[in-house]
Amino acid sequence: MTLDRSHPPLASGVSELGTESAFEVLARARALERAGVDVVHLEIGEPDFPTPAHVIAAAEAAMRRGETGYCPAPGIPELRAAAAEYLAAPRGLTIAPEEVLIATGAKPFLFFTILACVGAGDEVLYPDPGFPIYRSAIAWAGGTPVPVPLRARAGFAVDPDELASLVSPRTRLVILNSPNNPTGAVMSAEELDAVAQVLERTDAWILADEVYAKILYDVASPSLASFPQLRERIVLIDSCSKTFAMTGWRCGFAAVPEPLRHPLTRFFINSTSCVPPFVQRAAVAALTGPTDAVDEMVATFRARRDVVVARLNALPGVSCRTPQGAFYAFCDVSGTGFTGADLAERLLVEQGVAVLAGSAFGEHADDHLRISYAAALPRIEAGLQRFGELLA
Ligand code: PLP
Repeated sequence: MTLDRSHPPLASGVSELGTESAFEVLARARALERAGVDVVHLEIGEPDFPTPAHVIAAAEAAMRRGETGYCPAPGIPELRAAAAEYLAAPRGLTIAPEEVLIATGAKPFLFFTILACVGAGDEVLYPDPGFPIYRSAIAWAGGTPVPVPLRARAGFAVDPDELASLVSPRTRLVILNSPNNPTGAVMSAEELDAVAQVLERTDAWILADEVYAKILYDVASPSLASFPQLRERIVLIDSCSKTFAMTGWRCGFAAVPEPLRHPLTRFFINSTSCVPPFVQRAAVAALTGPTDAVDEMVATFRARRDVVVARLNALPGVSCRTPQGAFYAFCDVSGTGFTGADLAERLLVEQGVAVLAGSAFGEHADDHLRISYAAALPRIEAGLQRFGELLA
């Protein structure tokens, strides 16, 4: 028998897996740097701050104590208790330690909750523009991705009537993200209330991705988890990654409704086994320790945000709303005559400025660019200067 291929076949679902363009743009930017180009990095979604010293010290001490082996898949009791309190207190909730699971970042909660809830033909509502992993995981699970448009003219808020019109008897899961990546928008209490009323009329699972909940500028970030009528169906996700500048540590946590706890734990046992115990000790220190490093980081982000927004709005054909959370400026470039993708490409190739096109975040923001201000101010200013030169 003759085979007309040079390797065994792959599973058909593999082609459905999407990606995060941030990683791909970063790889291209690094290649340019190796070729001698001075690249300004405004593409990366991670704080440019070191992990706080007391957090590193806690990991070090745990390693020296010998906490370097396997540990319980749902997490060590101390971190489950600390995370329960950390999630509950600002939202006015009571969360028991047993309700909380620990995973290697927020991502496994997104991916495995989708795998646990969604089957072929099930519909999943998710924000568009939004974190690209949502759509990727929905498609991998065989579900039907149903984008919920977030429009610039509406301040990137969810339109509750539109949300209601997108709900169907097949809606199995609804994903919401506030503060939002890439828009930086924070859902207001009124918006959340209207969304909660729509969700109350469904029997869908709800995934509240709140990994930027502590990176806020002068606003509160109300949580969907505070609606008692929805509590039983909400997976409330947060992570050490952004708040504590711990992206590489891989430690996330979530309050998980009872029926999902066993399946999610099984997914962890089948994949990663556990989060390293010394990482979990570091996370306990992060969640329960002093907050000055976080406060300082957020204050720095706020100062940068103000510069970025003012400078973007001064560019011809560019307009930028003021983000209220996270560390991204999501600007409308439709007035430049370019699409976001064209501009992102030209910025990288011609000016050595790495940013992300709005199209990396869905179908509804082709004419936008995401600019991460997780970079030193002089570098941000250099990048925006080059952006201006490209448009001149
Ligand atoms: N959710 C959103 C909205 C994000 O922007 C990110 C990271 O960029 C994540 C989840 C993943 O976070 P983690 O590093 O905890 O897996």
